[in-house]
Amino acid sequence: MLHKGDGGYPEIRFDADGCTLCGDCARACAPRAIDPHAMPLVAFPWRVQVSAACLAQRGVECRVCGDACGTRALRFVPARGGIAQMRIELDACTGCGACQPVCPVQAIAMTRAATASPNAGSATT
Ligand code: SF4
Ligand code: SF4
Repeated sequence: MLHKGDGGYPEIRFDADGCTLCGDCARACAPRAIDPHAMPLVAFPWRVQVSAACLAQRGVECRVCGDACGTRALRFVPARGGIAQMRIELDACTGCGACQPVCPVQAIAMTRAATASPNAGSATT
């Protein structure tokens, strides 16, 4: 998920994959710009945000993002007479991005932790 960005600096892209916090980048970084001991604690300063394009909100069964989330930050609550609805547990979201590339309608984006909302469909993306 690390790509060569502007000026040759590393750039994180969630369009193909998420971060597993494996620490390989920290170990490979010669100038030691990343503290490998801080990684599991700090994670990322952003959180998941789900837009109104989400299929589950439009009456179509879909839980792909929940299956991709290793921390169970995206849960699906059964709804009487309808399909299960997403519940976002922001406290459990590490910002790893694993849910973003698997969404079939690009309804997931990452947003700054301070502006993230636990309500699906509140994003403007
Ligand atoms: S994968 Fe996308 S469309 Fe499916 S439930 Fe998650 S956000 Fe909604
Ligand atoms: S970004 Fe958050 S919600 Fe998405 S897979 Fe990672 S921990 Fe789960």
